[in-house]
Amino acid sequence: MLVLRTLQDVRAWRATQPGVSLVPTMGAFHEGHLHLMREAAISGHPVAVSLFVNPLQFAPHEDLDRYPRQEAQDLALAEAQGVNMVFAPSANELLHNGVTSVLVRGPSEGWEGAARPGHFEGVATIVLKLFHLIQPQEAVFGWKDLQQCAVLRRMVEDLDVPVSLRFIETVREADGLAKSSRNVYLSEPERYQAVELNQELRQLAQLCRSAPQEVWAEAIRNAERASSESLRQRGWIPDYLAVVNPLTMQLAETPQPGLRVAGAAKLGNVRLLDNVPCDERNLSDGPSQHSS
Ligand code: AMP
Repeated sequence: MLVLRTLQDVRAWRATQPGVSLVPTMGAFHEGHLHLMREAAISGHPVAVSLFVNPLQFAPHEDLDRYPRQEAQDLALAEAQGVNMVFAPSANELLHNGVTSVLVRGPSEGWEGAARPGHFEGVATIVLKLFHLIQPQEAVFGWKDLQQCAVLRRMVEDLDVPVSLRFIETVREADGLAKSSRNVYLSEPERYQAVELNQELRQLAQLCRSAPQEVWAEAIRNAERASSESLRQRGWIPDYLAVVNPLTMQLAETPQPGLRVAGAAKLGNVRLLDNVPCDERNLSDGPSQHSS
């Protein structure tokens, strides 16, 4: 497996490849990332992984400095998945004092966009740079970051970027907690309690399927509020729990295929993010690894 650090090296490598499937990451790999790499390999293209803790997507008060970094371990894990090339540039190398950014209005507004001003601009800017540098045929992302999927899909559509995006279902711990690099911040009691967010989302998804059509929106809005309240009573600080259209990130007003229940809430100092599909009938408690 090649590890490349400069734009020049990555361009030279790309020129020798017939096509590439790209998995953009910030490192601190867990089973979710590794699953994405294995899914990327299914395309038959060489797999490139970018490993870059992107300063542009962190607000000043966020965890950029303490974000987990474990490059040597990450490289070994990527190699074990059959990854062909890891692009791990320094911030200077990739950003080189750029002042240009990509703003995808619409799907970046509200939810994570409201909680983390500038976050999606930082994500879109770096992902578009990676697309230009590596020119992948395909790029693979996790549904775990639902709003990111919507933003990138819209960016690719609006800017006619010649890449096909593939979204992979969230890999979970045995109790249902979505795997996340930030789970290491949870204390032991918090880790035990953390699954409650996923449980609330799953209950809302169940209601999406069972609520009577005539009063669907009203029933869902009431249940979103009740779920938030229930988390609050158990010591969480909920930000939002909402049934949304995953293309637009607008609140869903009528039942339709493809809706997802998204939620974000703080437990202690850790902000947890998760979402589940509304129309999947047998969401098991175990790890879920469905592609879509
Ligand atoms: P990150 O390193 O957090 O930027 O994540 C890199 C990619 O992995 C993104 O496309 C995430 O959505 C995806 N990802 C993160 N957690 C999971 C998970 N538990 N299951 C599947 N994909 C994930």
